[in-house]
Amino acid sequence: MPNFNTIRNDFPLLAREIHGKPLVYLDSGATTQKPQAVIDKINYFYTQINSNIHRAVHHLSSLSTEEYEASRQTVANFINAKSTAEIIFTKGTTDAINLVAFSFGEKFINEGDEILISEIEHHSNIVPWQLLCERKKAILKVIPVDDNADIIMEEFVKRLSAKTKLVAIAQVSNAFGTIHPIKEIIKKAHKIGAKVLIDGAQGIQHLKTDVQELDCDFYAFSGHKIYAENGIGVLYGKEELLAQMPPYQGGGDMIAQVTFTGTTYAELPLKFEAGTSNYVGAASIAESIRYISEIGLENIEKYENELLAYAEEKLLKIEGLKIYGTAQQKSSAISFMIKDIHPMDAGMILDKLGIAVRTGSHCVQPGMLRFGLTGTIRASLAFYNNKADIDALYNGLLKVKMMLS
Ligand code: PMP
Repeated sequence: MPNFNTIRNDFPLLAREIHGKPLVYLDSGATTQKPQAVIDKINYFYTQINSNIHRAVHHLSSLSTEEYEASRQTVANFINAKSTAEIIFTKGTTDAINLVAFSFGEKFINEGDEILISEIEHHSNIVPWQLLCERKKAILKVIPVDDNADIIMEEFVKRLSAKTKLVAIAQVSNAFGTIHPIKEIIKKAHKIGAKVLIDGAQGIQHLKTDVQELDCDFYAFSGHKIYAENGIGVLYGKEELLAQMPPYQGGGDMIAQVTFTGTTYAELPLKFEAGTSNYVGAASIAESIRYISEIGLENIEKYENELLAYAEEKLLKIEGLKIYGTAQQKSSAISFMIKDIHPMDAGMILDKLGIAVRTGSHCVQPGMLRFGLTGTIRASLAFYNNKADIDALYNGLLKVKMMLS
């Protein structure tokens, strides 16, 4: 078992102070801090090998290209994709979902078809489907959750029909921490011939993920939530599906040949990578994968689960505090309210104490509404957090209560 007490020393930013207080960073659901290894990798790229990829015969270009394609292989290995043809670098999860909504939608969605999402999806996994449904006169259906923020399986099954073409659901809810039973969902969806997209933005960094074992058709995640750079993400798609889908954007790199009478497209995965990709970002993902693989995702999961249990137990000792999201299986995020205290006021006082939490709807407005809320306070954990961070949050919230009640 790695020493999780010293691991935070790998993350230089965590050593800084905020308003003269040691930083307590509990906002990793929004974005993670970066380990020195990833920062060094980015530095190495720009000081030693930077050049545009795929486009030149000179030495630097081939070094950059080799790094980029090796990064793709690292990602493929990490999620157990069959081949690198199935790994498309995007700008992030949002970009990956939009790619599928546009391209899969162009090819496979027709008038009257249905797309299913859960009631607690991130806006990134709602709005692209709404736009698609508008374009294609398709229908977006919502699977309700129960009072714990667990998906109601019977309601899901009720909504499945021959019209269902796609189910799009998060692996882990960013607002409520629910780990959705995606394997079961995928199995049930496949039975009636529907495809499944998994929004892995909050899953990939916490849970060991094997796309072949899950048998999902698409899987999306963001670099910045897995200790790598922002502006880079991944779309995994089964090759036989991606091969049938039209390009999402046109430009350099995604073509085989261009003439004014017609253009042919590059093979997978480049068909979906128009323009200069964020190749440094891709290398940063590969480095973060190496870094967390050394720690071991099983170890990370176990440690984070213990910390989550400690945090929930401790926070519930505060009178008037209610946790929203009490699913059977949870990861990382704790959304809560304190009676008669506005989340924003709490967030501002905590900030003065050096404690970073997120307040608001967490880009999940419909999910908040389900619980009669417009927002919550959310603490989200990573393996660089420890019990002292939770104790600081607990003490900070006691101060918030004292000041505001
Ligand atoms: N889905 C979920 C569950 C998320 O938590 C997020 C980010 N908060 C996104 C999608 C969107 O990710 P990005 O902004 O990196 O594209």
